[in-house]
Formats: sequence, structure tokens, C-alpha cells
Amino acid sequence: MRSYINEDGLIPLLITIAVLALIIGGLYYMYGNQKQVVPVQSGQCTCKDIPDLKNRLNEVNAAIAEYQDAIGTQQAHDAKAGSPTMYNEDDYNEERGNVQNAIIAAHTKGTRSGSGDTGTDCGTTVTAATPCLQGSFQTHENVHAATCQRIKDQLKSEGKFSWTTNYKDSMTMIDYWNDEIAGYRAEIPYLNQEIAHAKSTPGCLQYECKKGSGKFFDTATACTANCVRKLATLDNWCWEYNPGAGTYTGQKY
Ligand SMILES: [Zn+2]
Repeated sequence: MRSYINEDGLIPLLITIAVLALIIGGLYYMYGNQKQVVPVQSGQCTCKDIPDLKNRLNEVNAAIAEYQDAIGTQQAHDAKAGSPTMYNEDDYNEERGNVQNAIIAAHTKGTRSGSGDTGTDCGTTVTAATPCLQGSFQTHENVHAATCQRIKDQLKSEGKFSWTTNYKDSMTMIDYWNDEIAGYRAEIPYLNQEIAHAKSTPGCLQYECKKGSGKFFDTATACTANCVRKLATLDNWCWEYNPGAGTYTGQKY
């Protein structure tokens, strides 16, 4: 087969391209200041997202509790050792496994969730089943992106930054886990606001176990299954309620 670039010329050409790509990439990484924090849109969640949002709240609380536990253990360890443990892959991976298990244990069957990551370039990636959930995970990653950017700027000002620098290496293990807690905590107001917004969308009905009790369920089935009704008086039924209008529909189960 006829080739326009002979093999002797092709390899040096490829090497040149690779070297140029590395240099350009490195310069971009060091001096590029593209926005890493992605703005989160609110008011995207609707009635059908409520179970996902409630599930995520449970996952978030389980993750926070697990990280707090790890911090307690680490503090005791560091006090004994007389110096703080710096970020390291072994402790990171072990605790990440524990948090994954806590999240799995807290997960409500049938609900959707997602995942996110912040790279050493402070760029965020989020994978979520819905735009509603995407907002929660992006809110979380934005905390890490801001931390990454802050550490990167600090290192640059001290002349300690190169394109191979991982911002996490400047953190203690406890700093890192606290940043995780901050990420999860940032999701809580997003989730609560979106639950309130979703409930207020037209046609989004709630079911209250005993009129006026304040004990609401997302479906009539969930309400009747969890509503103890010793006396068959009307007030003890599951009352259909329209949070958007602030009224009972008159339907009872
Ligand atoms: Zn995180």
C-alpha cells in the first residue's frame, strides 16, 4: 500500500505531536483559569422527583455520619502519633468504601441517584439520572472545586505549583474528610428547597395520616400502609392534600 509519510518520518512526527500536546496541556493546566464551579439551577424538580430527593437526603446524612466517625478515629490516631496524617490513597480508599456501604444501606429501593467527581484540575464531572438530581451532585462537587481552586491559588502564590500537583496532597486526611462533609452539607438546602418546590407544583398531592396531624406521605398507598387507624372515624383516614393550594381535596383513603 502506498504511504504518503514513510515510516521513518511518521514516528518522529507522532512524538512531536505528543510532546506539543503535553506542553500545551500543561500550560493550560497551570495558567488556565476556566470556571470550575458550575452554577446550579433551582426549581427543576417536580412531583415525580420527590422520592429521589428524599432518598438523597438519607444518603447524604448517612455519608456525613460515616465521615464524622472516620474523623473521630483519625483524631485519636493523630493525637497519639503527635502529627496530622496527610491525605493518602490508602486511607482515602478505605474510607470511601465505608461511605459507599453507608450510602447503600441508606438507599431506598426503587429511587434514582448519581455520582460526581472533582479532578486535580478542579474540573467537575457529574452523572445523575435526572436534571433534578444533577443539581444536588453539582452542588456537592462545587464545594470541592472551590477548595481545589483555593489550594491551587495558594500553592501558585508560594511557587509550589506544577502541572503534576494534586491539590489533595496539601490537605490532611481530616481536612479532606471535612471537605467531603461540607460537600454533602451543601446538598441539604438544595434538596429541602427542591422538595418544597416539587410539592408546590400543580397536581402534586400529598397524603396525610389523620387530618391535621402533619404526617404526610407521597402516595395514598404509603399513607394507608403506615397510618394506624384504630377507630374508623373520618379524621383517622388518609386525607389527600394539595400543598400547592394549601387545601384538602376531600378525597380520603
Ligand atoms: Zn465529595
